[in-house]
Amino acid sequence: MEEFDFVVVGAGSSGGPIVDRLTAAGRYRVLLLEAGPDDTNRWLSIPLGFARTFLDPEVNWEFVTEPEARLDGRRVYWPCGKVIGGTSAINGMVYIRGLPSDYDAWRQMGNEGWSFDDCLPYFKRLEAYPGGESDLHGGDGPVKITQGEYHGELSASFLAACAEVGLPPIADFNSVAHEGAGLYHATVSNGRRVSTGQAYVGPARRRANCRVETGALVERIDLADGRATGVTYRKDGQSVSVRARCDVVVCAGAVGSPQLLQLSGIGPAALLGGLGIPVARDLPGVGENLQDHWGVRSTYKTWWRVTVNDDINLLHRRLSAIVEYALLRTGPLTANPAFVGAFVRALPQSNSPEAQFQFFPWSTDRNDRGLHLVSGFTILANQSRPESRGHIRITSADPAARPAIVANYLSTDHDRAVTVAAIKFARLLARTTTLSRIVTEELLPGVEAGNDRDFLAHARKEGQSACHPVGTCRMGSDPAAVVDARLRVHGIAGLRVADASIMPTLVSGNTNAACMMIGEKAADLILADAR
Ligand SMILES: Cc1cc2nc3c(=O)[nH]c(=O)nc-3n(C[C@H](O)[C@H](O)[C@H](O)COP(=O)(O)OP(=O)(O)OC[C@H]3O[C@@H](n4cnc5c(N)ncnc54)[C@H](O)[C@@H]3O)c2cc1C
Repeated sequence: MEEFDFVVVGAGSSGGPIVDRLTAAGRYRVLLLEAGPDDTNRWLSIPLGFARTFLDPEVNWEFVTEPEARLDGRRVYWPCGKVIGGTSAINGMVYIRGLPSDYDAWRQMGNEGWSFDDCLPYFKRLEAYPGGESDLHGGDGPVKITQGEYHGELSASFLAACAEVGLPPIADFNSVAHEGAGLYHATVSNGRRVSTGQAYVGPARRRANCRVETGALVERIDLADGRATGVTYRKDGQSVSVRARCDVVVCAGAVGSPQLLQLSGIGPAALLGGLGIPVARDLPGVGENLQDHWGVRSTYKTWWRVTVNDDINLLHRRLSAIVEYALLRTGPLTANPAFVGAFVRALPQSNSPEAQFQFFPWSTDRNDRGLHLVSGFTILANQSRPESRGHIRITSADPAARPAIVANYLSTDHDRAVTVAAIKFARLLARTTTLSRIVTEELLPGVEAGNDRDFLAHARKEGQSACHPVGTCRMGSDPAAVVDARLRVHGIAGLRVADASIMPTLVSGNTNAACMMIGEKAADLILADAR
């Protein structure tokens, strides 16, 4: 059986940095196993290709939730990257850390080393920020960040509308101030997406001590005497077992990581016993504590033909966008879905902003359909720190079977109240003098929606996952926690989890930056312990 020092499962936002830093240390042989293919699909590198990979089983797990109780039994689509780069290869490229208080809360829960001040050096280490190194930002990290390369003319109107309702301008959402409106930063550089595949896995795999296997679905963590000894994976129909001298590091994401632990006998004993899986460690928290942002769209028709709908639907515009991109790497194809946004205190009693708004200069009825044939834009609103908790549980001992995902969206009064307030705020923005000059019709929720009950019905019917699932292998020291603050699985030696699943609570913003930071920090913890 082949032996490595470390076996890393999953080449995503967290797995990429880990494999790069472990191999760069020089003394360790590292195997990276990724269920998906190499990131050669051309739509992955083109920012507007987001729309294609959102629904592409070649690079996307395309999960679907169970029927959701508060959504009238509706199942919700959950895209998730299945490719080198993981979800960073198919995401919306917004680069946002969340609030310092998000990380301080993790520390206050007892997780030593995870306050914002502790995490900041790792954010800085990963960033190549425009403007270079500063107290708050890194200047020469592997992840190139820009303030979006293509903003479209509508974004300025959105920002003017925000100013009209009194929101302060924010020059950098990743600086101290967060409440207000401004341009998002994005993992886009020279007209191309920056994924952890390019930023980290690419350099790592050029080193002699790194091996990367794609199309390798890890089926089980091999255990002996309370220790992870390696993994067994399936590739090209063959089952392969490898040994890990030091650690197995699971970075399979908020769905994949609890699924793999459960398949390996690490999880709630009753669940595993019911499926005939021998229990190696009864950890009731594996798969629990699931959190996600629930995004609700308000869509508007506009007479102004400056939307992405027009860039794509009008043949001459589409052709010119393709030519511009091919020749110059500029223009509409370099657009990530949201260029601008805002963070707002939606409820009067709130003491920090708890609603996020992403402005999309395009509109659609549903994400699995095409863009509207008319010109339109979208304001996506989501609550930043939901209270609702769900779970992920395997339903069979078959590693190829999908686990059951129950998100429990909108299951608390507070979540419903914030969501309704956020939808009302989106309408307030659309009805400012600035935006009402260009809006010809409110498509969603529609003018007939007039009270809180209508807005809640709209959130139930039209809401969607904002694609930020976290928390299913929660870090902590209580009996329901899965990993400790050094990301070691409780009760199993030689096994760590490092990805979105370890977050105790959601950060107030998109989750990719936090996942990359977790990868950077995990690498240091692993290397320190290996020494
Ligand atoms: C459509 C979409 C848009 C998004 N937009 C943004 C955005 O604009 N900004 C932002 O900050 N965040 C965004 N996110 C969220 C963000 O990208 C994710 O939170 C983050 O990438 C998750 O990182 P991760 O390391 O936890 O998991 P992932 O990056 O998903 O990595 C997990 C990897 O493990 C692999 N894997 C899983 N199981 C196995 C197994 N058994 N064997 C082998 N390999 C396995 C997967 O194939 C995958 O490559 C978006 C997400 C989606 C889906």
